[in-house]
Amino acid sequence: MSRAEKIKAPRGTFDVLGEQAGVRATLEARARAILEGAGYERIETPVLEATELFARGVGASTDIVQKEMFSLQDGGGRSLTLRPEGTAPVCRAYVEHGMHKRKQPVKLWYLSSFFRHERAQAGRYRQFWQVGAEALGSEDPAVDAESIVLLAVLLGEMGVRERRLRLSSLGSSESRGEYRERLQAHLREHEASLAEEVRSRIELNPLRAFDSEHEGTRQIMASAPRLLDFLSAEDAEHFAQVRDLLDVAQVSYEVDPTLVRGLDYYTRTVFEFTSDALGAQSGVGGGGRYDGLVERLGGVPTAGMGWAAGVERILLAGEEPPLVASPIDLFVALGEESREARAEGDDFDELDGSRVESRRAAFEILAEARSAGLTAQMELGGRSLKGQLGYANSLGARYVAIVERDETALKDMQGGGQERIATDTVIHAVLRGLRTL
Ligand code: AMP
Repeated sequence: MSRAEKIKAPRGTFDVLGEQAGVRATLEARARAILEGAGYERIETPVLEATELFARGVGASTDIVQKEMFSLQDGGGRSLTLRPEGTAPVCRAYVEHGMHKRKQPVKLWYLSSFFRHERAQAGRYRQFWQVGAEALGSEDPAVDAESIVLLAVLLGEMGVRERRLRLSSLGSSESRGEYRERLQAHLREHEASLAEEVRSRIELNPLRAFDSEHEGTRQIMASAPRLLDFLSAEDAEHFAQVRDLLDVAQVSYEVDPTLVRGLDYYTRTVFEFTSDALGAQSGVGGGGRYDGLVERLGGVPTAGMGWAAGVERILLAGEEPPLVASPIDLFVALGEESREARAEGDDFDELDGSRVESRRAAFEILAEARSAGLTAQMELGGRSLKGQLGYANSLGARYVAIVERDETALKDMQGGGQERIATDTVIHAVLRGLRTL
């Protein structure tokens, strides 16, 4: 039969292999320690959600909803979408499980994969992972500051290089109303110089004009009114307190009045960490306050603050993590009896039988090793004895037990010694050798 054509992973997706899996596990362990230490509980939400959740939660005028969602119809004609972000699902879960009845704020964290139909390039994928944290049910500026500090600590521990934190406030929706009108007037006045995309969003989402990379638009935006000058006294005070608490925690930041972020739900604090080490896709993680979102999703009015950071971007911008070798205590090798038997001209049945027996003995040792709390592996690849010793060495095995029917040669790969002992005493000898007895 001719070999079938290979099938590749879809564009913008990737496999996580070997070392990468290890580095990701380190990131997850650090995120867990930092966030759970601060009272955040892990949450898992479904990969598929009702499309309506994102249309309403993320906002109809956003890039995500307009062009980046992977949506499908289920059998009943309902539209479902592969989650493009984590905040709306967490708020949906908060409402669905009546979490407003718990002690507030409710703090939740996740590390999950997300899906966006984007132009794939380095650091930008169609399936990617985010670690995120959301605190629901408190307007306290300390919630904003703590949330930002926790991400700063995580990025610091992961060695994210050339890190910058930009910070701003979008005010509450009331103070934004007047500003919106002023900005729209400014945009209309200079409409001819704006990018088509910006022009088409003057009504729906004028703030996004600050994100445009179009040269003409950038020039017009340089003289645009700034939202920070329009904050209500309350919003300005909230922002001042967030800044003060960041100073207390010695987290440095730049106030950037042009920071608006791509999602519609933000109110008051918004922030973004970037890394200049990343090139074009410099965003590492960001977030902000979203005080109206839970209500928009059918819940009682509830304040919210959170962030999400890209796992791949953290790893790309992070220092080379130290290679954590995870050596094993014991490698169980199969003796050469069967090969010797072949040389002596025994018939095939006996030869095969001998292999089966040493495999059984090895398997028993393996099980005993694990119940004694040792890390152990056995030969599964049909290697010669020499091959098995080389393989055990590459695994960093401390001991190798070369199992024959009744007797076993126990080799100390560190000390170099070897002793022949009864097969049923192997684990005892290894434990004694490791001084755990
Ligand atoms: P956002 O939810 O758009 O605010 O994104 C938060 C973070 O997720 C960004 O700063 C990136 O680190 C990461 N991210 C967003 N979109 C992608 C993508 N398509 N591929 C890889 N990482 C992404």
